[in-house]
Amino acid sequence: MEKILVTRSSMPSFEEYCEEIKKLWDSRWLTNGGVEHIELQKKLEEYLGCEHAVLFTNGHLALEYVIAAMGFERGSEVITTPFTFASTTHAIVRNGLVPVFCDVREDNYTIDPGKIEALITEKTVALVPVHVYGNMCDTARIAEIANKHGLKVIYDAAHAFGVKYRGVSSACFGDASMFSFHATKVFNTIEGGAVCFSDDALVDKLNCMKNFGQTGVDAVGFVGGNAKMSEFQAAMGICNLRHLSDEIAKRKAVVERYFAALDGVNGIKLCRPDASTEHNYAYLPVVFDAYRLSRDEVFDALSEQGITARKYFYPLTNSFECYRDLPTAGADKTPVASYYADRVLTLPLYADLSMDDVDRITDIILNKE
Ligand SMILES: *Cc1c(COP(=O)(O)O)cnc(C)c1O
Repeated sequence: MEKILVTRSSMPSFEEYCEEIKKLWDSRWLTNGGVEHIELQKKLEEYLGCEHAVLFTNGHLALEYVIAAMGFERGSEVITTPFTFASTTHAIVRNGLVPVFCDVREDNYTIDPGKIEALITEKTVALVPVHVYGNMCDTARIAEIANKHGLKVIYDAAHAFGVKYRGVSSACFGDASMFSFHATKVFNTIEGGAVCFSDDALVDKLNCMKNFGQTGVDAVGFVGGNAKMSEFQAAMGICNLRHLSDEIAKRKAVVERYFAALDGVNGIKLCRPDASTEHNYAYLPVVFDAYRLSRDEVFDALSEQGITARKYFYPLTNSFECYRDLPTAGADKTPVASYYADRVLTLPLYADLSMDDVDRITDIILNKE
């Protein structure tokens, strides 16, 4: 039986990529904002409909650097959620800030705006919500709360590339949004990421910070690091962007095949994109809630047949070993997130996943003895 992984990277044809990188053999300019980098940045600003995009070597550093660029005092508190990838919480902590974990909504697993204000203290400086699985946060209520309390909002939009909410691009909410272009994401540059925002002052600052803080030929103005996107990464992005709408359409067809088989089954909960969202079909989360098999039993049944699903997100970041000593840690403080972390499985999903394979997967879930 052929193995099926949870995801598979989108790639252009070999010839298309070779054509794109040919010019690098002439220019001998491989990184530090070359022609490919400049073109991809422009194309992304157009596609995402944002004022500015600053490209990074990966999404995690993009988030870490934009938080750093905000200049928060060390020890300040940042309200976020634990139902996310490790990166979100790490980016906060690695900036010397304290993550305060808010619970998530039952309907789409994003931060519950009704529970944010109770967590705000005089040390709170920012909110870092996550558009989980490409499901958009309640951006309007989050903006209201942030304005009222003078907080910055930085979205982890790693899952939300290409998503539109009420007609507005996911890149246009809050003070900044981070996207990941990792190989496993809907749009990839092999490794890569970006921060999108409208504040002109942030452009130079982020570009300096990701290049060792150098502000000029003989000047270093920031404590920076190295987080630049290379020309080969940017070239992959330029190629992949050409095929993106096709890829999303194919993903949608796969998701609909899954929905057709699993929707309405007792004990199986699916999360349909709501009518106000133009989705990117990044993930296929399925919640096994009092189904005849537990989430772990479904995971094992699929594994036995060479099919990899993912317990995503499990464990919650507020129960990671490295955060156990934080006074804000503990999955019991976020019961809704905890409930889903124990029951959710993301099923294999990528543009070229065949309908036969989807049928094989749903057949195992529905008919495993
Ligand atoms: C992928 C991901 C990141 C990190 O992005 P990388 O490009 O892999 O560094 C951050 N947050 C979330 C929610 C992600 O899924």
